[in-house]
Amino acid sequence: MTSNTSLVMENNSAPLIIDGKAIAASVVEKVQNETQKLLKEHDLKPGIAVVIVGDDPASQVYVRNKGLKAEACGFKSVTHRLDEETSQKDLLNLVDQLNNDTTIHGILVQLPLPRHIDKDEVIQAIAPEKDVDGFHFINVGKLGAGVMQTALLPCTPAGCMILLREARGDDLSGLHAVVIGRSNIVGKPMAQLLLQANATVTIAHRHTPNVPQLCRSADIVVAAVGIPEMVKADWLKPGASVIDVGINRVDAPEKGEGKTRLVGDVAYEEAVKVAGAITPVPGGVGPMTIALLMANTLKAAYVSKGIEAPRF
Ligand code: NAD
Repeated sequence: MTSNTSLVMENNSAPLIIDGKAIAASVVEKVQNETQKLLKEHDLKPGIAVVIVGDDPASQVYVRNKGLKAEACGFKSVTHRLDEETSQKDLLNLVDQLNNDTTIHGILVQLPLPRHIDKDEVIQAIAPEKDVDGFHFINVGKLGAGVMQTALLPCTPAGCMILLREARGDDLSGLHAVVIGRSNIVGKPMAQLLLQANATVTIAHRHTPNVPQLCRSADIVVAAVGIPEMVKADWLKPGASVIDVGINRVDAPEKGEGKTRLVGDVAYEEAVKVAGAITPVPGGVGPMTIALLMANTLKAAYVSKGIEAPRF
């Protein structure tokens, strides 16, 4: 027996595999229904504008998918494809024009932007009430202060909370959550949302000593690091809920020469034997991000009319 396996205590009951694809589909279905309601009762059609600068192939795919999903939700959807050489001034002018367009409720500027563009200036130029990525300082501040009714939350962590609800319900009182990663787009807002749900939260990052030991005391582990299969089974308390945000492409010679596959930040095959609930990669957190972008756009449209937005 290796030292690793001696530390692993398996969970005796079958783990809940949290199906992000199905849950994302139910979020989108709710967005579709609420969009119809908004149109019928308030004569308002949510509108989203996606802006892409340059021709990064991955970003092009993301932007196309966002446009298609928005149309499927019944939104007005416009995509602005700008040349790689677009100036900061021209991009800011477009953002300003969209800020003033009353048919547009959500603006998303696809990241990354070309190097000559100051991305922070562009993000902060988006009207906070249209900032469906949830990156504007006003929305960051609202999340920190718990002003949830009008806050637009970053899509990935908001999606993680919906997945976690499957395992733990809405109220995380008495539970210890460890978030690994402290990025502005995932780790930090995730920690805030967990805190909002009454969890006791620890944030671990690259300077944190003994992350495995910290995780062993956690009822909830959220991994948002970008290191393939970093979180091992012996990092987990039996029965822990594990949300794996990581998306990492690794070589898969078993599938043939030059082939690759996606893995998360959690060593799924071993972790699933210990966890009480776990998200797979792919098919866990991934599909939630775009679903929550749609939910945010719907919320922005509701809030623009001063109507209380549906909760997701
Ligand atoms: P990031 O690089 O901005 O942040 C990574 C964080 O991990 C940092 O805070 C860093 O301190 C921490 N870290 C690095 N090494 C560590 C270590 N050894 N121990 C503990 N902490 C360590 O990444 P991000 O943008 O937050 O993304 C994280 C992962 O989530 C990536 O794999 C990314 O692809 C994925 N992601 C997925 C979605 C989705 O829709 N599912 C969305 C965003 C990001």
